[in-house]
Amino acid sequence: MLVATKELLLKSLQHYRGFVFRWQQYRQLSPEWNHDHCGGCWARFAEHAEEWSDVVHTAGWVTLWPTDDDVEPQFISDAKAVGYVCVPSPKLSGFQLDWLCPECFTSCHDELEFVVDPDHPQWKRAGV
Ligand SMILES: [Zn+2]
Repeated sequence: MLVATKELLLKSLQHYRGFVFRWQQYRQLSPEWNHDHCGGCWARFAEHAEEWSDVVHTAGWVTLWPTDDDVEPQFISDAKAVGYVCVPSPKLSGFQLDWLCPECFTSCHDELEFVVDPDHPQWKRAGV
């Protein structure tokens, strides 16, 4: 999927403003969660590119997005109520890994003040 304009991309990624990122290999965090998508363009991240027919990134820019483990989102509750099986995204001590592909990261890096810090204490705190 192509993002129409950089303006749209900046808008869709503005919640990451000032977030700390690092470059890493994509690793599957649980057997049920075998891929993720770029937060900007929805490009796929997966460990095994050969298992997918679309463009797959096997590494990318990752950040930690704070989550609240105890609260089930309403759309999950609704889906379960009508019989859907939902797999929650893997959580790491209150965080989930959010991914950006190189293109989206680079084009928003300056405006959104992304911080690149592979040694930031947040990674240790989340156990990744
Ligand atoms: Zn992207």
